[in-house]
Amino acid sequence: MLSGPSGAGKSTLIREMVKEIGPYFFSISTTTRAPRAGERDGVEYFFVTREAFEADIAAGHFLEYATVHGNYYGTSIKPITKALEEGKLVVFDIDVQGHESVRKRLNAITTSVFITTPTFEVLKTRLFARQSDSLEVIEKRLTMAMSEIERVDEFDFLIVNDTLDEAVQALIHVAKAARLRRDETALNAFKTQWRKL
Ligand code: ADP
Ligand code: 5GP
Repeated sequence: MLSGPSGAGKSTLIREMVKEIGPYFFSISTTTRAPRAGERDGVEYFFVTREAFEADIAAGHFLEYATVHGNYYGTSIKPITKALEEGKLVVFDIDVQGHESVRKRLNAITTSVFITTPTFEVLKTRLFARQSDSLEVIEKRLTMAMSEIERVDEFDFLIVNDTLDEAVQALIHVAKAARLRRDETALNAFKTQWRKL
């Protein structure tokens, strides 16, 4: 699970990391926010209306959902369960609220990383340089970042995305270690199988 302020570099790091980590599944979230230039429905997100999102909430389709920067974002249960059954590493780009919810539900098998820029000033520069959000949206994201950083101690790891290459390498290490995690059921199955004569 990767969290951190918008503009910290999560999408960029994920894009590089997945080239090196073997079988994985990127959890494509559903959101009511408008697509940015270049974003495609069903690739970065499933883009839906508020009505459709609320119908999914009522139907119990979400593992977790939250309101972030005034829009709904949620993780659907079904594809996650399927990917876990197939032994894939599931990668979540999720906010701090979503991290807390998923931790509660899938505790034994989660590994989490908080990703951020070296300083608030650098975050500001990157959000402006990305040129994908209006001034108002950027201001919202910066205010949010100040409260998100407060929750950094809830995460297993902290990666400071200063030099891109170094941050990518750090994330690859974490992803490879995450793959070695086993929940209680898997450990018991392993013990039973190992003891067989
Ligand atoms: P997030 O997914 O966390 O919102 P992005 O991956 O969109 O962040 O990155 C925000 C901006 O910062 C993008 O324009 C990206 O190209 C740039 N960026 C990412 N990592 C670095 C880095 N290490 N140094 C400089 N710019 C970076
Ligand atoms: P963005 O609009 O920049 O793509 O994402 C805004 C924030 O929403 C980021 O902090 C991102 O991690 C978070 N986010 C994306 N998908 C989900 C999700 O399914 N659930 C939750 N709780 N947060 C999400």
